[in-house]
Amino acid sequence: MDTDILICGAGAAGLTLAIDLARRHIPFVLIDQVDAPFAGSRGKGIQPRTLEIFEALDVADRMIAAGGRYPAQRHYAADGGYRDEATVAASAATPAEPYGAPLMLPQHLTESILRTRLAELGHTPRYAHALAGFDQDDSGVTARVRTPLGEIDIRARYLIGADGGRSLVRKILNIGFPGKALDARAVVADLSLSGLTREVWHRWGKGAQQISLCPLQGTTLFQLQMPIPLEGVFDLSDAGIAAAIAERTGRSDIRLHTVHWRSDYAMSARLADRYRVGRVFIAGDAAHIHPPTGGQGLNTSVQDAWNLGWKLAAALRGADEALLDTYAEERREIAAGMLGMSTRLLDAARDSGDLRRGREQQQLDLGYPASSLSLDERGDDAPLRAGYRAPDAPCVGAGGQPLRLFSLLKSADWIMLRYEPAAAAAYAPRRGLRIVNVGERAELRDQQGHLRDAYGFTPGDIALIRPDGYLGALTHDEHSPAFAAYIEHLVA
Ligand SMILES: Cc1cc2nc3c(=O)[nH]c(=O)nc-3n(C[C@H](O)[C@H](O)[C@H](O)COP(=O)(O)OP(=O)(O)OC[C@H]3O[C@@H](n4cnc5c(N)ncnc54)[C@H](O)[C@@H]3O)c2cc1C
Repeated sequence: MDTDILICGAGAAGLTLAIDLARRHIPFVLIDQVDAPFAGSRGKGIQPRTLEIFEALDVADRMIAAGGRYPAQRHYAADGGYRDEATVAASAATPAEPYGAPLMLPQHLTESILRTRLAELGHTPRYAHALAGFDQDDSGVTARVRTPLGEIDIRARYLIGADGGRSLVRKILNIGFPGKALDARAVVADLSLSGLTREVWHRWGKGAQQISLCPLQGTTLFQLQMPIPLEGVFDLSDAGIAAAIAERTGRSDIRLHTVHWRSDYAMSARLADRYRVGRVFIAGDAAHIHPPTGGQGLNTSVQDAWNLGWKLAAALRGADEALLDTYAEERREIAAGMLGMSTRLLDAARDSGDLRRGREQQQLDLGYPASSLSLDERGDDAPLRAGYRAPDAPCVGAGGQPLRLFSLLKSADWIMLRYEPAAAAAYAPRRGLRIVNVGERAELRDQQGHLRDAYGFTPGDIALIRPDGYLGALTHDEHSPAFAAYIEHLVA
């Protein structure tokens, strides 16, 4: 079997990449070794930046409809009294940031919605297909895949290992995975129970005796999380879980009915030395693992895939292969920061049980200003720099109809915004580039000045937005040699 891209792993990272490639009409095959999709809650927090990406993939509204907001945390004292406090520092949506708060949606529902979108685009993951090994040469990768009907070869121009923390792809590539074990082990389980309100996230105890029961939005279940001793066998049977709930909460009125899914795991923080070897890439947990505190893992995995998808599509259409090196250049640094942050949050949670989340976890301020893809000709004092996330802005179309900038970004193309230009565009139409004039009589009208305010535009300014919604180049002179070279080499 021949294809352009072989994606190994149909988790959050693999599914996101598959949808992005499907909407770009890039041939690919998506395989997963499991017989059927995973059914546990695991990563239940979708951060505002990831919601923006899911909007571009046409799944955000479905996810929001299926999930809900984070409830307040209720901290119980030993005498049964309690205090409530906000779990997330949600801000109101703004014109530039349409999603002010994270969404809670159990991971299996997130993945199910991603699979539905993928099916609408004409693709399904091939389950019970396990990557067993691969070889690569100058023109592609030959992968050996075990299927129920025997082993098959799949030949692809690129292989993406989105195969989770124990990634076989990473191991075959011999990529180092340095980091450390964090001396923390925990249980996570999805439970049907009675005796607790679903209005709040219930938390008891400190240190090793903590336990939390969080109502899982979009379901009738609670997610249990609790630390367990590093060594020894912890009783994960239904009776063992019921006993731990009774002991750590001190309550006899919480009745466990069914355990739908359970898992225990030891936490570590590790970052792959490289994200690419030749024609093979790793993404998501295959490239970085860390504690769940801060709810970053699924989000970072989705955003790895989002960064890689358009670059793979461009390379397949003839862009310079060096573009593909910017994937590791941009994403590895982000993962390193995320590892540090989630480890710090784990330390805080271990001491005090504090799981509050704020702006830093929302991923809206992450970007690539130091990237080799960022060209900034507007000067250091401009409010928005090349590499930053491109803000949204409510505008109107030439017919007076409401039009958000993000609706243009759905196109999967580069967008060149020309703000109140004095002359016609200097660039001829080309595939993958959409030139949009903004002005009183132009196709896009910034009636309330949201675009001007968010981008710091003055008449004649130009913003070139990458297909993944980050600012590639900012200039006041579209004839500048650096800007012309940028368009020539990168926009394909
Ligand atoms: C308790 C807990 C809470 C969490 N909370 C959050 C949260 O709130 N927010 C958040 O963002 N993240 C959270 N996470 C992390 C999140 O679950 C992971 O980061 C996310 O699943 C990573 O997605 P992925 O697609 O990279 O990998 P995975 O989801 O691990 O998917 C990898 C896939 O590859 C397949 N595979 C593996 N090997 C092969 C092979 N050889 N051949 C074929 N297929 C293969 C596997 O079957 C699997 O389906 C949490 C995790 C835990 C454990």
